[in-house]
Amino acid sequence: MAGKKVLIVYAHQEPKSMNGSLKTIAVEELSKQGCSVTVSDLYEMEFEPRTTRKDIVGDLYNPEQFNYGVEAWEACKNGCLSEDLIEEQRKVKEADLVIFQFPLYWFSVPAIMKGWLDRVLVQGFAHDFPKCFESGLLKNKQALLSFTTGGDKEMYSKGGVTGDIRHSLWPMQHGILHFCGFSILAPQICYAPESVAEEERVQMLTSWVKRLRTLWEEKPIDCTPEWYYK
Ligand code: FAD
Ligand code: ZN
Repeated sequence: MAGKKVLIVYAHQEPKSMNGSLKTIAVEELSKQGCSVTVSDLYEMEFEPRTTRKDIVGDLYNPEQFNYGVEAWEACKNGCLSEDLIEEQRKVKEADLVIFQFPLYWFSVPAIMKGWLDRVLVQGFAHDFPKCFESGLLKNKQALLSFTTGGDKEMYSKGGVTGDIRHSLWPMQHGILHFCGFSILAPQICYAPESVAEEERVQMLTSWVKRLRTLWEEKPIDCTPEWYYK
């Protein structure tokens, strides 16, 4: 939809990968709609995933004993977070929708993306208890996990060897994003792109573009235990 702002947080080392293609076609389709699209290409940026005292500029709140959560919270209030964090927070603040594009690593996001979540979604910026879930500081924004897997759809079905894929989304969708106030759009999952035929991969890309055309009409999922564990 024209005028909407989208941030794509993208974690893949290889532009020619399936994730690279999914990211590129999303940028093309959303731009075509008149959205303004920003990409945080985490490997390309050599994004720092570690939570260290370098994230705080100037004096520490408690130099005697370092507590990252407290220091980041204080630094956030005082405008003393490092430049790279302030820049990512600016992109999030502007965005109506944040798409996370990544290959599933150990039922989760790759470490570089986990580091982005750890470092960017600071207390005081994304949440500030009791300002969480429906009153999280990033309410009125939407988030969508778009990812690829190694395992196929059958493995990730109810009763499959890995269990229902929805179970592994609980920490990311509910524990992180919904906690910060985002409403969650249904995940976009490309199962086993390495193992399927070329036509199926093309089909996966086509269905992502097709979905993006009407994405703005979608209702968020009901991000409660029922969605994950029914
Ligand atoms: P790629 O190998 O880059 O892409 C697949 C194929 O698509 C390639 O041949 C590529 O050339 C082709 N392609 C790219 N663009 C196009 C296009 N436009 N049209 C047609 N074809 C195209 N998997 C799980 O299921 N669960 C896990 O817990 C898990 N943990 C992992 C942990 C680690 C540390 C690692 C390294 C992997 C793990 N995996 C896991 C597997 C991982 O999720 C998959 O390898 C990954 O999702 C595949 O996506 P990709 O983009 O890297 O694929
Ligand atoms: Zn939830």
